[in-house]
Amino acid sequence: MSKNRIIFCDFDGTITVNDNIVAIMKHFQPPGWDALVDQVIHKKISIREGVGRMFALLPTSMHQEVVDYAIGNVTIRAGFRELLEYCSREDVHFLVTSGGIDFFVYPVLSQFPIPQENIYCNGSDFSGSHIRIEWPHACDEHCANDCGMCKTTIIRQYPAESYERILIGDSVTDFEGAKLADIVFARAHLVQLCKELNLNYYPFENFFDVIKQLEEMRTR
Ligand SMILES: [Mg+2]
Ligand SMILES: [Zn+2]
Repeated sequence: MSKNRIIFCDFDGTITVNDNIVAIMKHFQPPGWDALVDQVIHKKISIREGVGRMFALLPTSMHQEVVDYAIGNVTIRAGFRELLEYCSREDVHFLVTSGGIDFFVYPVLSQFPIPQENIYCNGSDFSGSHIRIEWPHACDEHCANDCGMCKTTIIRQYPAESYERILIGDSVTDFEGAKLADIVFARAHLVQLCKELNLNYYPFENFFDVIKQLEEMRTR
């Protein structure tokens, strides 16, 4: 019997053309944000710590501005709707596994037919003086990476014996998940990592490339 195919798809820089967290920080420029990005990229602090501390720089008085900016500045990568159609037609289970934040991930994805329970991202709390990020999908006991939104924890819920696990992503939040996946579709930084670790990967620019490759894999 053939395995069920499942896709774990990143949001920022993958479904969307830009990284929304970086875009928010670049736009509002809270003092200290760039040093935090740098520390995350160079693995001096975890993704969870970096993202938490960046948003804690923004006062909740800016709530509406931040939300409006985040949602208003999103461009969806070409072929995404078609990929969803392909998955529904071919019975591929499709999950969004995002290191982004609920206040932009859910509104942006609301134009697409993705059930809310298939979208994993971080939460947010605007009740205090500054934005507080919540981590409802933190690392399980098998992951010591302090991811924030832990893709490996979600991937492990779909065992390799029964599932063909496909990860689509672009960057640092995808590194740990890519190591577990059977097949990786990679852009940007993730391509480099896949090369270094000799992972089974396909580079892509848009989701039409992904669909084409999935179709070819199907007919082999
Ligand atoms: Mg990304
Ligand atoms: Zn983790």
